[in-house]
Amino acid sequence: HPVVKGVANGSSNPLLANVPNKLFIGGQWVDAESGKTFPVLDPRTGEEVFRVAEADKADVDKAVAAARKAFDEGPWPRMSGKTRDKILVKLAELIEANAEELAKIESLDNGKPLAMSKIADIPLSADHFRYYAGWADKIHGKTIPCDNMLGKWFAYTLHEPIGVVGQIIPWNFPLLMLAWKVAPALAAGNTIVLKPAEQTPLNALRFATLCEEAGIPAGTVNVLPGYGPTAGAAICRHPQVDKLAFTGSTEVGRIVMREAAERIVPVSLELGGKSPLIVDKSVDVDKAVEQAHFACFFNHGQCCAAGTRTYVHADIYDEFVQKAAARAQRRVVGDPFEEATEQGPQIDQDQLDKILNLMSIGEREGARLMCGGKRHGEKGYFIQPTVFADVTEDMTIAREEIFGPVQSILKFHTTEEVIKRANQNEYGLASGILSNDVNFINTVSRSLKAGTVWVNTYNVYESGVPFGGYKSSGIGRDKGEYALEAYTQVKAVYQALEGEPD
Ligand code: NAD
Repeated sequence: HPVVKGVANGSSNPLLANVPNKLFIGGQWVDAESGKTFPVLDPRTGEEVFRVAEADKADVDKAVAAARKAFDEGPWPRMSGKTRDKILVKLAELIEANAEELAKIESLDNGKPLAMSKIADIPLSADHFRYYAGWADKIHGKTIPCDNMLGKWFAYTLHEPIGVVGQIIPWNFPLLMLAWKVAPALAAGNTIVLKPAEQTPLNALRFATLCEEAGIPAGTVNVLPGYGPTAGAAICRHPQVDKLAFTGSTEVGRIVMREAAERIVPVSLELGGKSPLIVDKSVDVDKAVEQAHFACFFNHGQCCAAGTRTYVHADIYDEFVQKAAARAQRRVVGDPFEEATEQGPQIDQDQLDKILNLMSIGEREGARLMCGGKRHGEKGYFIQPTVFADVTEDMTIAREEIFGPVQSILKFHTTEEVIKRANQNEYGLASGILSNDVNFINTVSRSLKAGTVWVNTYNVYESGVPFGGYKSSGIGRDKGEYALEAYTQVKAVYQALEGEPD
């Protein structure tokens, strides 16, 4: 795919041959107004692998103007839903056609095992575009009868696109988080200014080339790599941005929401989590250990929904703790491009330092370190899979999001007690139950204050199923029909009925 149109991107890495190193604004690949660039680091080594143009306020102004024009003058919002459907299907097909390349870029950029990029990140992203393509011609309102002594009317609602949408995404699932944001916004007819995380801009840029190839009109999708407090903040503050959508930390979510409040624009937030996984005594312990391991350690623990508080019934607690530690010790940490690798490096030095610090706080506060607790190797951002037992809710590691490969195991005795303790947290993103007792499952799943409950499974992400948080974990829902609400305005039209028989 000679999609970079002959623009040299300064990289000799053949894997990055199709990744432009510029900003994508109004259908053009351009340098930053400031001329600045920033490095993309390989998390295996901390060395620079690529340099990308660094967007700031001036570039955001240009991108918003392009998105504004594309919205106000079309053609994207004015196309029929069927035409948008066709183009989004084409985009899904292009992701599938380039899956191998996209998977490798994802693993290079983020450090996740290539096998995971191949079976999860890339196919799920393609599926997301295909799923929302299907919605593009099914977004419609209702006809509402009006019953009023004063006259005769009927009313109907129109579900209109909101306009220019500012989207800011994190680094943990670079392409998939993009898909969760971009696909529903496009299906509904909005135009977009997207800022990928500064740690992982590569696939967002490659994706922009696929938008060109799929025939998405210029200015509809604009991609601005850059930092949060500069480019991100400029998107949030721009008076011509009609809606903000953000995934990332609760701390930054608050900033985004404050900016939205200043301008009274709708905002959807998908933020942090500290999800409980409740393991009942009725389980097969070996199977439950494996499920709990996956719930916590998937993607190196860098999942907002990671099941990091593992509550285990007292009757099976000791056996579970021993086996969970043994499983974590067997976890293969290494180069994401090697087949046996289960866990690659964490994303960057900041995250490495933060995780190591929280692990030492865990030890200081009296949690029992069963395995791990240290950096893995001396190069890059690798961390040993770590298990703490005898964790209690007053400990920092049970309260704060660690975003690393750290499992905290807590002991419980009764159903009422575990429900109370599981809900005793500022977050409410996800949760899980492992049990063979249907009454336990029903009681607990209805009692947990969390946007998702996984029962006898974990980390399942279907495009059609909504995802989002209770409490400090966010506002609104990504995915499914529910996400369309975040990207549409409802207009009510009253129409007089004259000359109608009574
Ligand atoms: P972050 O919230 O700082 O970054 C997420 C995105 O927001 C990035 O694109 C970033 O550039 C942007 N951003 C940062 N400051 C901004 C600002 N002032 N205005 C607008 N945009 C801004 O997250 P992080 O630093 O990458 O990670 C910190 C913590 O966030 C992690 O340790 C983890 O706890 C959490 N996190 C959660 C998720 C999630 O999916 N919920 C994802 C990544 C990180």
